[in-house]
Amino acid sequence: MNNRWVDGEADKMVEEFGPAWGEAMALRAYSARLLGADPGLVLHGGGNTSVKGMKKNLLGEGVPGLFVKGSGHDLKTIWPEGHVGLDLDPLLKLEALDALDDAKMVNQLRTRLFEAEAPTPSIEALLHAFITELYIDHTHADAILALTNREGGDAAVKDALGETVVVVPYVIPGFQLAKAAATAYKANPGIEGMVLMHHGLITWGKSARESYDKHIDLVSRAEAWLAAKGAPLTAGKSASVTVEAAQAAYRTLAPMLRGALASPQRGRNRQPWERFVLKPLITPEVLALLETEGAQELLVSPTLTSDHLIRTKALPLWFDAGEEEGMRERFEEALRHYIEAYDAYYEARADIHNVRALHRFDARPRVILIPGVGAVCAGSNDADAEISRDITAQTLAAKAVISGTGGTYRGLSDDHLFAMEYLPMQLAKLAGAEAAPLGRETVLVTGAAGAIGAGVCRHLLEEGCHLAASDLPGERLDSLVAQLAADFPGRVIGVGMDVSNPEAVVEGFGQVIDAWGGLDQLVINAGLAYVSTLAEMDFARYQTLQAVNVEGTLHLLAEAGRHFKTQGSGGDVVLISTKNVFCPGAGFGAYSATKAASHQLARIASLEMAGIDVRVNMVAPDAVFSDGARKSGLWAEVGPDRMKARGLTEDGLEEYYRNRNLLKAKVTADHVANATLYFLTRQSPTTGATIPVDGGLPDATPR
Ligand code: ZN
Repeated sequence: MNNRWVDGEADKMVEEFGPAWGEAMALRAYSARLLGADPGLVLHGGGNTSVKGMKKNLLGEGVPGLFVKGSGHDLKTIWPEGHVGLDLDPLLKLEALDALDDAKMVNQLRTRLFEAEAPTPSIEALLHAFITELYIDHTHADAILALTNREGGDAAVKDALGETVVVVPYVIPGFQLAKAAATAYKANPGIEGMVLMHHGLITWGKSARESYDKHIDLVSRAEAWLAAKGAPLTAGKSASVTVEAAQAAYRTLAPMLRGALASPQRGRNRQPWERFVLKPLITPEVLALLETEGAQELLVSPTLTSDHLIRTKALPLWFDAGEEEGMRERFEEALRHYIEAYDAYYEARADIHNVRALHRFDARPRVILIPGVGAVCAGSNDADAEISRDITAQTLAAKAVISGTGGTYRGLSDDHLFAMEYLPMQLAKLAGAEAAPLGRETVLVTGAAGAIGAGVCRHLLEEGCHLAASDLPGERLDSLVAQLAADFPGRVIGVGMDVSNPEAVVEGFGQVIDAWGGLDQLVINAGLAYVSTLAEMDFARYQTLQAVNVEGTLHLLAEAGRHFKTQGSGGDVVLISTKNVFCPGAGFGAYSATKAASHQLARIASLEMAGIDVRVNMVAPDAVFSDGARKSGLWAEVGPDRMKARGLTEDGLEEYYRNRNLLKAKVTADHVANATLYFLTRQSPTTGATIPVDGGLPDATPR
């Protein structure tokens, strides 16, 4: 393991943060970030660090303080303020207690904070208090877990690290672990560090550098021991399939998996399904590992550490995909067994651990291992699925190392797993993540780079969805995607797609599947306009409208119908229609006729797809010319002509359109988005219907 300490960099941290925070805190943050920078040590919020020091109170008196990582902070990105300050002396007195439940411990921690608004300290804060060293570093290092999570793990630790570390048997994190660690520390003066079985490594020192150096040294010794024992199970092996072939297989398979995983909605949300976002882990190593003899036995085993439970569940689901024929039935059968096993695990322990009043996790797997395809990782949103995937990558690699170095993998017992899975502080980590109205949905919006499209995209993202913004490839789309991705990180992809080309539409859906496993909602908004009387119409231009407005709608509806059927968990389609369907305008025949055809296709889709719980509805706006600075294509086509014909300015034209409706309302992209959202959030059991968004135009009322 690479020691990342660089004196010059440490000095810079002291220069930057020393004046406000003091040198000790600046160096604390520096070495915490070094630990966080190494995925072999710390992943997604794992590990924690602390420093002790005097805090001046308002009277100018020095109060001994513990500054420990606050929850919600990640060592990778932590700054001095990420270590929250606690009044140390009262915390030290708690060591005299025999037991302290989680809720009381949190209350003790929160009421000892120096700053009332500070986040709750790490669940392992008391461990940092009871071990009376200046700097303390704690990680769940892979190499250490590769020693502890094997049969005879404590002997392996001693053999690898020598007698200078003390080994503490597994204890659930919280007060009990803090007590056990403190007892071991006091009983073994002069030790360099502590290995917690099935959990990780603790080192300490009089300086940030000393504690960090020891940490890296011990992990390096573990790595050297492992290297001497052998290589990972996959070394020198390759799978029977290439990564490309596995990726192609995943694209076909993912919507089925995603649909089967979706569970009937339990929350306030009106969506019928609680869906998952899927992310595949497809690498040569993973593919080779899944085909290794005994892989199922090795890999369908508990997590490396108990804090991974809420991300990956204790066990992955193994699935041999086999023939395409009957695959869904076979997967549902495997899923049923998994769910039954989880229910039994819960029922056997819920009363003993007194957790029935707490949130109960759904029984669905978060990781599905499929030979020939890879590991498919699930989460309630993109960020959760990514965490699940990253943890899975580390877990599979560690298990391959343990097995390859002659070990037999040993995870925690079901009782230990359950106690941690339903630990109130773990639950608090996930609290507040209650899904937004569209939080678990994936949406494709076509014509996204136009005025209405951009407005709809932003609005839907504000409701929590994962959004594929689609338009013709190019600058307009790229700039929109860049803007949206900056505001809604992790929830936006761009799909460059010409809807008039059926192959491009299939490929566009494929890109959504690659990103999130499947599509739930489609907003068909791409459209072209053209002003001409019938007598003067350029037929070639008419045909371009026909290709996009009619055939594009057809290709999208057709692919959506196939996709939603495969997925088998319903779906929603909203077509952005127009008031011209009901009230066509002279000189606007190409637009009115082709939009009328697309409107009719959508109505037919509502008839054909109702049986698979897909709703297809229409929103019919009057002219929307812009969304902020983004001008609509309609404006480019119609605006200059209409202005010329009526001798109006741009503002005057908008005024003209406003004055022609009953409510004297200017129609905006936001209004169109609101109506779209009405359908996508399933406010009423409605399909095949149209909402006019036109300020009231009696001639254009749908009938
Ligand atoms: Zn820990």
